[in-house]
Amino acid sequence: MRTYLTVVFLGIVSLVFSQKPTIPFYFEELTSPQMAEAIQLSGKTCIIPLGILEKHGPHLPVGTDLLESRELTRRAVSTEYAVVFPQYYFGQIFEAKHQPGVIAYSNQLVWNILQETCDELARNGFEKIILVNGHGGNNSFLPYFCQSQLASKKNYAVYLFTPDENDEYNQKIKSMRKSKGPDQHAGETETATMLTHRPDLVHLDAANSQSGEDQNRLKLDFAYTGIWWYAKFPNHYSGDGKVAAKELGEYIYSFNTDQLVKMIRSVKADAQTLLLQKEFYDRAIAPK
Ligand SMILES: [Zn+2]
Repeated sequence: MRTYLTVVFLGIVSLVFSQKPTIPFYFEELTSPQMAEAIQLSGKTCIIPLGILEKHGPHLPVGTDLLESRELTRRAVSTEYAVVFPQYYFGQIFEAKHQPGVIAYSNQLVWNILQETCDELARNGFEKIILVNGHGGNNSFLPYFCQSQLASKKNYAVYLFTPDENDEYNQKIKSMRKSKGPDQHAGETETATMLTHRPDLVHLDAANSQSGEDQNRLKLDFAYTGIWWYAKFPNHYSGDGKVAAKELGEYIYSFNTDQLVKMIRSVKADAQTLLLQKEFYDRAIAPK
């Protein structure tokens, strides 16, 4: 009896402590008075899931990267609360301007809108801004953006989610994949992740209507040039989406969600970044 009562008691205690926040995590769903509670619950942390509008082979929607980064974020904040910024599709996508459905804003606009979004979040009380990127074309831009936050004094910190695709992950993906060769854009893995949460937007029957093979039209040694991607994948399609299966997508989502939850927890607990930034900005005014 005693054991039974202890179990019941512990059950109630864990229920009370595991209760999920009752206010929304989506920024646009919060009322203005709820904002203060959201800022407190999130440890002043807001996540911007970044996507883009670009072709995704012949079979996936142009908003794929935005849908994916928002789904990953939704899964993570369902476990560890943080506020989620609305639909954000401004980024670097010049390499796909020859394809229908691409919105390629200028560098200046892309930079300014991200900086001003961060500034505005900080003005509202968020001190920690997490960028969750869903778009490969941002892979050079976002670390540069983060680094550039040191250029002038800020009262907030920007953190970029950088998942660690370790050996175990790579082995598992290799064993689950049915296609061989490159799989960098709208291929088997990306089609699989879309199949897990938006199968209604995946047109598998169209996946082989264009080639996703590497066209290899440029031979250079030890050189980088902007046209490299177009030289390889002029259809803005890399891989084979046709063979995708939901199980692969579920594995990718669970692996990344686990790391994003850990990242959010570490950012919420982090006091050091803002302290170090302040020390740095103060010293940078008059170096000695
Ligand atoms: Zn994509």
